[in-house]
Amino acid sequence: ATGNLDKQKTIDLRKKHVGPSCKVFFSHDPIKIVRARGQYMYNEKDEKYLDCINNVAHVGHCHPDVVEAGAKQMELLNTNSRFLHDNLVLYAQRLQATLPEKLSVCYFVNSGSEANDLALRLAWQYTGHKDIITLENAYHGHVSSLIDISPYKFHQMAVAEPSQHVHVIAAFIAESLQSCGGQVIPPVGYFQKVAQHVRNAGGVFIADEVQVGFGRVGTHFWGFQLQGEDFVPDIVTMGKPIGNGHPMSCVITTREVAESFMSSGMEYFNTFGGNPVSCAIGLAVLDVIEKEDLQGNALHIGSYLTQLLDDLKKRHLLVGDVRGRGLFIGLDLVRNRDKRTPATAEAQDVIYRLKEQRILLSADGPHRNVLKFKPPMCFSREDAELVVEKIDQILTDLEKTLGLQMSEAVISENGHTKRKEPSDENGLVHPSNGSSHSHKHTVTLPHDKKTNKRQKT
Ligand code: PMP
Repeated sequence: ATGNLDKQKTIDLRKKHVGPSCKVFFSHDPIKIVRARGQYMYNEKDEKYLDCINNVAHVGHCHPDVVEAGAKQMELLNTNSRFLHDNLVLYAQRLQATLPEKLSVCYFVNSGSEANDLALRLAWQYTGHKDIITLENAYHGHVSSLIDISPYKFHQMAVAEPSQHVHVIAAFIAESLQSCGGQVIPPVGYFQKVAQHVRNAGGVFIADEVQVGFGRVGTHFWGFQLQGEDFVPDIVTMGKPIGNGHPMSCVITTREVAESFMSSGMEYFNTFGGNPVSCAIGLAVLDVIEKEDLQGNALHIGSYLTQLLDDLKKRHLLVGDVRGRGLFIGLDLVRNRDKRTPATAEAQDVIYRLKEQRILLSADGPHRNVLKFKPPMCFSREDAELVVEKIDQILTDLEKTLGLQMSEAVISENGHTKRKEPSDENGLVHPSNGSSHSHKHTVTLPHDKKTNKRQKT
């Protein structure tokens, strides 16, 4: 039987048989989810959680059209791509139609990591070079080749800007907007400049759209398109939302790169990639995005949510920055706006307290102080209002505990604070009414949070 074990039994079996480095969310009191629909998940008691985390369930959890497309195709045929099948070619054609013309050749694989690993192989073969430039705090996947270029995992030294002294560059890889790195939005024009340097050095530009693609940024279907029409990557990788939870992913590149990969003489075969079921599901996802105008929803609800969060910034000193595009938004919590001291413990506290109110949100970035919004794309105005209302209450509470009050600071026009009160080394205001000794500026956390372990999503 599945799905009806006592919760403690599930925990015990997991401890016994599942690799201990596979972490659960909220490890001191994990959530057991048994079903989900749209932007809501339900636990074993049928209590409803609002999901602000799950960018994989892109068109909504268990969307009936996607489920039906997969089930129907499973009933009929599932096999590898060595047989001709219309789903494969029609899906490739549909995906291509969302991209600039020269990105026309697809490789279907099964996860974001597989997609990025293949992207590296394409780049190595095409350029004959080996080195990869990656951004600070980047994360591109869990296989060996990608751990090497994912400083988010190991805080290795990374080159943030391509240097003209580098001559053996195979590729520059970056997320079109950085997610695990803390919801960072590159300035418009940055990718064009990088691409110019990288191509001059004989390398290619890989855009990782695993987290941010498929209309999430609202104004465009792909994150890299925010840079302007004059920017076209050489390779684009896709994952997570592509199958709404079905394990599938894709690498799309130019004819030139694909021909060069072919010229190595080595066949590329992937047992599950591009099977008729995955392609049917991928097609259904594209249909739903279109039919329900989810890109439009990301734009409108995303702008509304950003506006609500901007309002929070006006009222809460803990809010250092609000940044995002569409339904990809970061709320950067700081203990001091001028020094930008990360409010790591406070961010953890916010997500734990939200969980108590049945709202799922995560904190990420190098200091784990950025609250990340990347909900299913059917997120509504009411959902946005609810989560912001709860965050508002929690921040008020936290600021009271910390002795951080807006009345003691004047917000200057550029958003920096000018304090009337002296502040300590953490930038915390000590009210001059003699009560400063009562403030230790610590936030009580559940014991397992002291390890500050990162729970990646
Ligand atoms: N690229 C990015 C930007 C990611 O965020 C992730 C996963 N978090 C991956 C690649 C790897 O994808 P997967 O876990 O499907 O292998």
